[in-house]
Amino acid sequence: SVPGAELRVVVTAERPTRRLIAVASGKGGVGKSTLSANLAIALARGGRRVGLVDADIYGPSQPRLMAVEGTRPEARDKVLIPVQTPYGVPLLSMGQLVEPGRALAWRGPMTAGALGQMVDAEWGIADTLVVDLPPGTGDVQLTMVQKHRPAGAVIVSTPQDLALIDARRAIDLFDKAGVPIIGLVENMAGYVCPHCGEVSDPFGNGGAEATARAGGIPFLGRVPLDIAIRTASDAGQPPAAGEDDRVFAGIAAQVADWL
Ligand code: ADP
Repeated sequence: SVPGAELRVVVTAERPTRRLIAVASGKGGVGKSTLSANLAIALARGGRRVGLVDADIYGPSQPRLMAVEGTRPEARDKVLIPVQTPYGVPLLSMGQLVEPGRALAWRGPMTAGALGQMVDAEWGIADTLVVDLPPGTGDVQLTMVQKHRPAGAVIVSTPQDLALIDARRAIDLFDKAGVPIIGLVENMAGYVCPHCGEVSDPFGNGGAEATARAGGIPFLGRVPLDIAIRTASDAGQPPAAGEDDRVFAGIAAQVADWL
């Protein structure tokens, strides 16, 4: 044989076991999808091999957030192949599997089947999947905890009392299923007025941190209510992919440490 030209064969017989991070909230509209997208991107920027599963049947917004709106995943031998996004995070979304606006009419077994297809897709080297769950504690969440056994859950809430009460229910579901809570994120905390710079608290202040403390749950951080987050998200440019991202990078670092 020629010296220095040995062939190296890498055997990958076993399918790598992937860890699932469930991102959940008690209520809709609290920023769960926004956090999921930015968490996945920030983890990837931190060197993790991450994929993103959008299991939010009520409003699958990840294709838009991740700038791949209108795409459809291909399948090989009935196994889905995730869509590549510009942010180094492959994605599968309920929104890619169902006609727009139809997902709500799906029955439990159909959503459970779609969730299974997404989790068991051809994720390649990705060893961690961030799963954007629907709000609340319905079929998809139950299938998630019972069948797919996430490594841990991140709970998103606004500082508002009502959102927190619902967040406690979500926490309870994971507790009962023996899924560890990685921590709580407070979103839409502190609004900085773009005109005068005054900081106000439209949804109250500090409630999520207090809830986390009272429940013995790690508090992962606070994301301000910032118009720039909304406009960037709508434009398919999550802030975590930008230059000056401390908020999501800080949250992702704690999640990465936890893993
Ligand atoms: P959920 O997944 O909980 O339903 P989304 O992530 O879709 O919530 O967020 C709902 C809306 O609020 C979206 O328009 C999103 O861009 C916006 N949003 C979320 N978090 C923030 C924030 N911290 N600042 C400003 N807008 C936000």
